[in-house]
Amino acid sequence: MTSAADSTTATEAIGQAAASFSGPAVDARAALTLPYTHVDDVFIDGAWVPARGTGRNPVTDPATGQVWGSVPDGTPEDIDAAVGAARRAFDGGWSRLAPSERAAYLLRIADEVDKRAEELSLTNTRENGSPVSESKGAAANAASIFRYFATLADYLEREDVRPFPRGGGESVVRRDPVGVCALIAPWNFPINLMVIKLAPALLAGCTVVMKPASPTPLSFRLIVDAVAAAGVPAGVVNLVTGSGRLGDTLVRHPAVDKVAFTGSTPVGRKIAAACGELLRPVTLELGGKSSAIVLPDADLDAMSSGLVRSCMRNTGQTCYISTRILAPAGRYDEVVDMVTATIAAGVQGDPLDPATVFGPAATESQYRTVLEYLEVGRAEGARATTGGRTARLGGGLEGGFFVEPTVFADVTPSMRISREEIFGPVISVLKYTDVDEAVALANNTEFGLGGLVFGTDQDAALAVADRMDTGSVGINFFASNHSAPFGGRHNSGLGTEYGIEGLNAYLSYKSIHRRP
Ligand code: NDP
Repeated sequence: MTSAADSTTATEAIGQAAASFSGPAVDARAALTLPYTHVDDVFIDGAWVPARGTGRNPVTDPATGQVWGSVPDGTPEDIDAAVGAARRAFDGGWSRLAPSERAAYLLRIADEVDKRAEELSLTNTRENGSPVSESKGAAANAASIFRYFATLADYLEREDVRPFPRGGGESVVRRDPVGVCALIAPWNFPINLMVIKLAPALLAGCTVVMKPASPTPLSFRLIVDAVAAAGVPAGVVNLVTGSGRLGDTLVRHPAVDKVAFTGSTPVGRKIAAACGELLRPVTLELGGKSSAIVLPDADLDAMSSGLVRSCMRNTGQTCYISTRILAPAGRYDEVVDMVTATIAAGVQGDPLDPATVFGPAATESQYRTVLEYLEVGRAEGARATTGGRTARLGGGLEGGFFVEPTVFADVTPSMRISREEIFGPVISVLKYTDVDEAVALANNTEFGLGGLVFGTDQDAALAVADRMDTGSVGINFFASNHSAPFGGRHNSGLGTEYGIEGLNAYLSYKSIHRRP
């Protein structure tokens, strides 16, 4: 495998490249040697093998707009081979290992992921523009997910015997793995949104075929390398790259038993329809438009320190962030001023620079979508208090997909920017008169994924959180906790990931009745 450099770490390589370059950032990128590995191959039956077709899909650096790699555009034959390998591995023994034996593999994978932390971070950043300040945590988070699910082996191994309520016998409840799983991930967090499916699937005894999003096919290859280095048996884990059409082929493959998907609501609906027709279990983590309710006693200084993480994480490309801030009428101007100042102070620039807070949009199409929403917001009468247009950066980033981080004030509930998922660095601030109205505004959405309550009185904040019709709510901060269930209500999805509940999604129950 090509590593960052034989005698220097990847971070040092960036530092050297940055120090030696007096001109454009593209030169710094050219000097950076990243693991660009197995790029002609798909991973099937325990080995990197050439893809069956000749098509390629480009990989673009969104900070420069330049193509820096490509991977195979997989074919239905690749999917067939991958699903066949997964089926054989499932039937051939993986599903019959003791959960604690599979947990041991998860722990080994976690160690291997840790070893690849720098390469994972930098590859992630170059394929989707996530600032390194964000992507540097991806490996540690992925390793932590594998380690967390390893701890649930006990839960799977515990005997579950339930007496008949009226006597006369008992039932032994078995938790069997559901079978071969199709895992499909988006581009915003290409590593962790796949790992959160892969780890519980493997612990449960399932085998998998994974399809990453077209813009981000490279970083996950390093996770597959980690799986291979951990000695996971051939066929248990398979990876095929390709378009959404290939994803559809995978979803509908006759030998697939379950589908897990994260992405847009429209594609989620299509997958749900296909799975409905096939009576195939499916987990869907979809879009969101979450609200942050600022209570009258909120500490705005404290809110400011976590604002980017809670409301504009990953340049606004995070499904659960609260991009609608609901402020009490009496403090509206104060909240708008604080949000504006906080967002305006975030450095926008090269995502490879550790000081950068806001990077580019991940793709050109996402960039255009966000710019359209800025137009829509202005046309609807919202007032941009900071940002509001495309960002023009120099130093080699002229072709990058940068949009100015934007705050809109004077937003009303009927405006499209307040109702639709933008998936970019755009926050709307709305006004409410009393807490009942704030809760009603927060719940008046087609989605139900995240949410926040900012307030000094924790009990009062908790009472408001309890009234929010959503899968997760944070009080004064938001972070995902992989031991607690995470899932969307309404158009935000079906089913649950994370926690024991997320593991259950990869199980099929069987009751064996007996008279002791
Ligand atoms: P999509 O929903 O189109 O893509 C997500 C994944 O599904 C990708 O791997 C994609 O492949 C694949 N896919 C696309 N069509 C199908 C299909 N018919 N059957 C099976 N798999 C399919 O998201 P986009 O990348 O287009 O993003 C569009 C919008 O989605 C964003 O603007 C945002 O609003 C929302 N989004 C939400 C996310 C979340 O975390 N909830 C994450 C990302 C986006 P390919 O990339 O090859 O098309």
